[in-house]
Amino acid sequence: MAKRKACRNCKRITEDETCPVCKENQFASAWQGRIFVSDEKKSLIAEKVKLTAPGEYAIKLK
Ligand SMILES: [Zn+2]
Repeated sequence: MAKRKACRNCKRITEDETCPVCKENQFASAWQGRIFVSDEKKSLIAEKVKLTAPGEYAIKLK
């Protein structure tokens, strides 16, 4: 099983080598807290942290 990591650009948590949201490949292997956004258009948190796609995101990267 691939290790989960968080994108340094948009904080998306993924197992892929490239971020599925912003296509960056800079990742942090440790983070604090996470949020799950199922509908970014209805989520106040998503709006606040400028998420553009549903999914799991880290709140703060280490
Ligand atoms: Zn990203």
